[in-house]
Amino acid sequence: MSHFVIIGAGQAGATLAETLRKKGHTGAITMVGSEPHPPYQRPPLSKAYLLGDMALERLFLRPEAWYGEHNVTLIEGCTAEAIDPQAQTVTLNNGEGLSYDKLALTTGAEPHRLPAKIGGGLKGVYTVRGLADVEAMKPEFAKGRKVLIIGGGYIGLEAAAVASKLGLKPVLVEMADRILQRVAAPETSDYFRALHKSHRVDIVEGIGVEALLGEGRITGARLTDGREIAVDFAIVGVGVAPRTSLAEAAGLTIENGIKTNAEAQTSNPNIFAAGDCASTPLNGAQVRIESVGNAIDHAEIVAVNMMGGVETYTPKPWFWSDQFDVKLQIAGLNTGYDRVVVRGGGASVSHWYYRENTLLAVDAMNDPRAYMVGKRLIEAGKSPTAAMVGDQSIDLKTIMAAG
Ligand SMILES: Cc1cc2nc3c(=O)[nH]c(=O)nc-3n(C[C@H](O)[C@H](O)[C@H](O)COP(=O)(O)OP(=O)(O)OC[C@H]3O[C@@H](n4cnc5c(N)ncnc54)[C@H](O)[C@@H]3O)c2cc1C
Repeated sequence: MSHFVIIGAGQAGATLAETLRKKGHTGAITMVGSEPHPPYQRPPLSKAYLLGDMALERLFLRPEAWYGEHNVTLIEGCTAEAIDPQAQTVTLNNGEGLSYDKLALTTGAEPHRLPAKIGGGLKGVYTVRGLADVEAMKPEFAKGRKVLIIGGGYIGLEAAAVASKLGLKPVLVEMADRILQRVAAPETSDYFRALHKSHRVDIVEGIGVEALLGEGRITGARLTDGREIAVDFAIVGVGVAPRTSLAEAAGLTIENGIKTNAEAQTSNPNIFAAGDCASTPLNGAQVRIESVGNAIDHAEIVAVNMMGGVETYTPKPWFWSDQFDVKLQIAGLNTGYDRVVVRGGGASVSHWYYRENTLLAVDAMNDPRAYMVGKRLIEAGKSPTAAMVGDQSIDLKTIMAAG
């Protein structure tokens, strides 16, 4: 009976184990995870869970008992330290070893930290990746305190929204010219800047953090314009790097993450990879998509192919973010857009990204119907004209049919 080993007990690892069982794999499955918990959802860590609106149990993707009931051996709080691809073995940090017939790497990503020489190691400086990070920072969230948020991406903006809702004074510093510059059009940045400003989040753009200040613990920050501000604690949200060191040491090819082919296979045919740690071919490049949707879809393909199938993975990106009373839903990848069409207005608006006449992506703010229609059109490879999309008198049903 074949033994499948999964390294990394996060969203992709859990989906993989579950799909293997659903598809009828009867052999042994062992999943190894560094964190002392069964797999859980990360998105609430910067949203409802940080806010205190969600119980811990609701974070878990499956109750702990599910794994035993489905004959999945889950080894929690244990890190895989080495892979020997020739011997087909994995060495764990508890000294034990595992043999595998097929191996999957779902090791996720590691948040970038600020270097210690500019104060990144001071107490009171946090990143948001795991439950332990949130448990450590939660006591800092007391009314009236000032939190510095470094980075105006989705995680930074979500943390700022939570801080504002809890009565803190957030100041968010973004080095680029505008928040969300890496991931969204200026129209979307403008929408969220206005939203945050209306909730008294102090947003500083085009200025970086030169150093975090304090003796042992952070007390302030010096910005690149020379200004010094006093803060009580800081959250660093400046992106992540794929966790590739284990794969690299095993001789697997790394290209923007662990390189996989369209079948989600790494450069070793017995080793697969999925989720945040892995890159996949798309339009001639190796892309890496950091989202729950990608982790699920990618892992499902890995499950089929570990069982001997040959399905190919075509990413169909979707993403969401919750900030204050706004739900942002994103379909598609906007890379290479040359035009943005705005539909709607006020709180409920959608931004449609085009390259020439091809619809690439949609950002929908409090507009789930625009998101659904945009997603379906993009997945079907259809493009309604920009003129139709921008014409509010034409309803979404007609746009869907015409695409
Ligand atoms: C705060 C936050 C908010 C987010 N919000 C959203 C959102 O709104 N929408 C969305 O689509 N996505 C969101 N994401 C991204 C999404 O959560 C990730 O894309 C997704 O979790 C990736 O799943 P994964 O399984 O690839 O990696 P992870 O969930 O990171 O899991 C990887 C696991 O592998 C373990 N591991 C690593 N190396 C080893 C090893 N050597 N041995 C054993 N275990 C190991 C890690 O400890 C970790 O538990 C958010 C992420 C964060 C952190």
